[in-house]
Amino acid sequence: MKIEQVPKEISSFLMPKPSGKMYYKCLGCNERFGIDELLYTCPKCGSVLLLYSEGNELLESLDGSKWKKIFDYRKLLNYPAIKGIFLFYEFIAPVIPLSSIICLGEGQTPVVRANSKLRDMVGIDFYFKYEGLNPSASFKDRGMACALSYIKYLSEEKGLKDIIAICASTGDTSASAALYSSYLGDNIRSVVILPEGKVTVQQLSQPLGHGSIVIEVPGVFDDCMKVVEYLSERYNVALLNSKNSWRILGQESFSFEVAQSFDYDMKSKAVVVPIGNAGNITAIMSGFLKFYKAGIINELPKIIGVQSEHADPVFRYYEQEEGERRYVPVKVRPSVAQAAMIGDPVSMPRVIELVKEYDSITDKRRFYVVQVKEQEIMDCMITANRNGNIVCTQGGESLAGLIRAKEKGYISKSEVAILNSTAHMLKFISFQQMYFEDSFPPEFEVKPKDELKNQPLKISPEKGKDQYSEFIKDVAEKIVKILNLKER
Ligand SMILES: *Cc1c(COP(=O)(O)O)cnc(C)c1O
Ligand SMILES: [Zn+2]
Repeated sequence: MKIEQVPKEISSFLMPKPSGKMYYKCLGCNERFGIDELLYTCPKCGSVLLLYSEGNELLESLDGSKWKKIFDYRKLLNYPAIKGIFLFYEFIAPVIPLSSIICLGEGQTPVVRANSKLRDMVGIDFYFKYEGLNPSASFKDRGMACALSYIKYLSEEKGLKDIIAICASTGDTSASAALYSSYLGDNIRSVVILPEGKVTVQQLSQPLGHGSIVIEVPGVFDDCMKVVEYLSERYNVALLNSKNSWRILGQESFSFEVAQSFDYDMKSKAVVVPIGNAGNITAIMSGFLKFYKAGIINELPKIIGVQSEHADPVFRYYEQEEGERRYVPVKVRPSVAQAAMIGDPVSMPRVIELVKEYDSITDKRRFYVVQVKEQEIMDCMITANRNGNIVCTQGGESLAGLIRAKEKGYISKSEVAILNSTAHMLKFISFQQMYFEDSFPPEFEVKPKDELKNQPLKISPEKGKDQYSEFIKDVAEKIVKILNLKER
């Protein structure tokens, strides 16, 4: 659609313009800092930061019903810069010029209703949002599109040069960082630090394919994170982990899209999301809070975070009585939800802050964390995919979490759940393979259910290909036996 075709009262708002300013706010000491520099932690007290904007003319003047129209018409336009996450420009980073925005096809992922069999099985109506259909096949692209657009802006307008972009990763952050950095060309070099043997072959192939420098460190993600923190505190590198609050802003687009795909009606809705480094759940809460405050949604959906019992520090924190909660990092054990296998989530202070705000909006509790077993995660991944879905192990974790939340009474059958399927199933296909072959090492504690297993059936023909028609007949007749086919 062309802008001229849009009703007059909306058309002048469709192309976003930079306005106002943005600042980092420290969650420890409340100090504010300008955005001319990339900051990851507070220069004064070392705590994590969040980004806010102020003085944006539109944000301060338009009401919710106007915003809904703006977003719905923007969706019909064909301007690349505002086709992805920056469709919600004013709510993400309204200071970045459109010319600096990188859009590689991220966002606008499908929301697909579970089939009736799966809905009956769980006893509740629910949808998956397929984040695996993002360009690098996980939701990380949302945050990376924002962080790299900001870096492009710094390099174009503030003379930032020879950038070394670095991240620690459980696999998907590095895949996404590598993709977006390689798009920006020679001004930026991407370095990714991975726990050796703890990312899948598919995930490892992504940063290698996009030309990153890939460094493998013995240990788990938490060790790699400590290494990049050491580097970013002392050396001139651009940190691309979710400690970088520009990533959080981009990932808020998930919530904006969920709201839009339900016509901004969040009544009786619950969003289910796996928690690893806790960047995503931070962004999702922050996004819904922004839309709520702007009058775009009238109610906040419930948020249900999910953790495996092999990596559950956030669950343990919220299991304690309010007022007596103490945060203690955990030592992780091997998990099929490998992308969330994190014992000391960097965004924990953000979660604590946002949950307080989220739960204070209404007198009812809206935030929950549940814990699930490795076995449940795998069974749910396989079951979802056998019912026409595209779900990775973390998506399986979302489904297992929904079932647990229902058992616990956190969600009732009159509500509707939206499950984050955070990556494409193919990235984590090695776990499916282990399930089908019953080859999980004992520490995973996963035993395949016979009815969910699937293996290729091999045919051993008796005839060679030199008697070709005999060979075909022999193979075909063996298939007839397997399928018990009736003649016509
Ligand atoms: C990163 C990631 C997670 C965890 O998200 P956090 O923001 O680290 O909590 C879950 N699933 C997948 C597929 C991921 O890549
Ligand atoms: Zn501070």
